[in-house]
Amino acid sequence: MPIALAVHGGAWNIPDEAVQPSQDGVRRAREGGWRRLAEGGSALDVVEHAVRLLEDDPAFDAGRGSRLNDQGMVEMDASIMAGAGLEAGAVGAIRDVRHPVSVARQVMERSPHVMLVGDGARDFALAAGAETCRTLDLLVGRERERYLRVRSGERELVEREFDPEGLPEEGPLGTVGAVALDRAGHLAAATSTGGTQNKAAGRVGDTPIIGAGTYADDRFGAASATGWGEGILRVLLTKSAVDRLAAGAEPELAARSALEGLDRVRGKGG
Ligand code: ASP
Repeated sequence: MPIALAVHGGAWNIPDEAVQPSQDGVRRAREGGWRRLAEGGSALDVVEHAVRLLEDDPAFDAGRGSRLNDQGMVEMDASIMAGAGLEAGAVGAIRDVRHPVSVARQVMERSPHVMLVGDGARDFALAAGAETCRTLDLLVGRERERYLRVRSGERELVEREFDPEGLPEEGPLGTVGAVALDRAGHLAAATSTGGTQNKAAGRVGDTPIIGAGTYADDRFGAASATGWGEGILRVLLTKSAVDRLAAGAEPELAARSALEGLDRVRGKGG
């Protein structure tokens, strides 16, 4: 059985000085994930591991390096899905945890639910023994500076976040995700984000919504999305890509055609 792994560090314009750190981070996650996959690791373990590496990397908008919301807090979204039995777990607007993707996996494996949000998600993480931290531990200087710029009236930073014509330095730094196929023929996908610039407290984007940010079905394929969550949510981007695979489309065509669906809501993503 062939094995496969894809990881991403988000879409959009990357400022020149962030290109190298972004590429290095994606490469490290791919290598770390690939090693496990080649050793016979399960697709589920591999996507969790790859996304954890990206959450640790401050180059990306996930885990450490997350964007700040309009109250100056880090609230993160993440999800994970196993394609064998369509099991899934997700957390929305969770605070104070190091690895939201691992909490999502715990929700999947240790709770009767698919998604937990806010304080409930954090309480669950604490009880499940997840690694906790303070907002300060997740905060990097770049995001603090962006927050202060927005608060002092630079609205363009928010308005142009998903504008492909925007200046590179105004672009977001990237939600992260991974999809894998293991030797047993199982697929898995995972996605994690700090969300969008200056989002309202409590805002939940596409990332933790199964079928929007993440989807995996052993019979057809798996996908992880990034981009403007409010658009991706309304077209259920990853499920729509996997539906195209189910109808026989090649992966690239399936992705392209699913992305065309975003035009209807004037959404942007990848
Ligand atoms: N999709 C993410 C969100 O809307 C952001 C991103 O992918 O950059 O929360």
